[in-house]
Amino acid sequence: MNPALLTLNAGSSSLKFRLFGLSPDLPYILGGKVTGLGGQPEFQVHWQETSRDESQALPANTGIDEALAFVLGWLDRAAQGRRIGAAAHRIVHGGGRDRAAELLPETVDDLAAYIPLAPQHQPHNLAAVRALWRAHPRLRQFGCFDTAFHAHLGPLAARMALPDSVTDKGVRRYGYHGLSYAWIADCLRRDHPGLFAGRVAAAHLGNGASLCAMRNGQSVDTTMSLTALDGLPMGTRSGAIDPGAILHMQKTLGLTADAVERLLYEDSGLKGLSGISNDVRTLLASPDPRARFALEYFAHKTAQAIAGMAVSLGGLDGVVFTGGIGENAEPVRRMILDRLAFLPPFEVLVLPANEERAMAAEVAAVLAAPA
Ligand code: ADP
Repeated sequence: MNPALLTLNAGSSSLKFRLFGLSPDLPYILGGKVTGLGGQPEFQVHWQETSRDESQALPANTGIDEALAFVLGWLDRAAQGRRIGAAAHRIVHGGGRDRAAELLPETVDDLAAYIPLAPQHQPHNLAAVRALWRAHPRLRQFGCFDTAFHAHLGPLAARMALPDSVTDKGVRRYGYHGLSYAWIADCLRRDHPGLFAGRVAAAHLGNGASLCAMRNGQSVDTTMSLTALDGLPMGTRSGAIDPGAILHMQKTLGLTADAVERLLYEDSGLKGLSGISNDVRTLLASPDPRARFALEYFAHKTAQAIAGMAVSLGGLDGVVFTGGIGENAEPVRRMILDRLAFLPPFEVLVLPANEERAMAAEVAAVLAAPA
């Protein structure tokens, strides 16, 4: 039997995993998650072929090491002799790397330098790598980076209007959600070749939200930047704001840097605007005018940013929606598209996100490449 590839996506309170067969079509075998780490942990798994589901509560003190050990033990028993040949980790920041890379101790030390740029994701992503080393020291591990799809942005998209003194120290625009956009590019290449070669604004709208202007499978521009705070307003993140507002909050309102960080990452966006929730389903169902305002604001800024991407692309042939909001919230898509009705006609697609398959494909390509 072919060995399998295990994909892992570790967050602050969850560990998501999928198993793919390491044959050319990368068959999806099963997927699951441990949620509620630090609270009431639960293990859930779904078998693709039989649609069978299993779930089980885990002990309250389950951390990332224990969660990973549980998943590996479960896979050992359940995988019916199928050996795990490699693991792929979703890692939000890859520095300047433009594709998946094998994770060696020095690579992980280097990636740790980017923790301040992605404080909500990078530390948990790297903790899972170290936990897997402890559990399985000889298993080959690869990093798949959300920044990689944007690694070749041109200087107009990559630079901030700042002097060389800080630009040279890495204060530049990186972009995120790249694994989602790599999957969208793959779908377009395969199923919509005309659009693949055209001018496409892809919108990943979930709890995190961004746009990517793409052409021929290449990122031309994107709304997230040095950090995943820039661009569109999100579930709890502010998106782009006046940089002077940050100085004002610190220097005049007396907020500490940590308090501003929490405000911008955790209490802003749809949650801050509505005062109700970060969740679009809740906001759509609410009769409260603040909920409506938050959604209008989100749609307004997203439509403005799509029009901006049309400038980066020299026109617009298609808009692709993905992510939890992009895929499911038809009223929000409508609110965005209504605001773009003044543009010449363009195609609209809704494609389900599948970052894990993008990861599997990247790692399979690295494994197949001559050493
Ligand atoms: P994450 O970025 O955490 O992966 P998702 O991509 O799952 O998030 O997106 C979560 C968002 O998608 C939430 O705001 C949620 O309300 C919204 N969403 C999911 N399903 C629906 C639905 N059926 N209708 C409207 N919004 C939905």
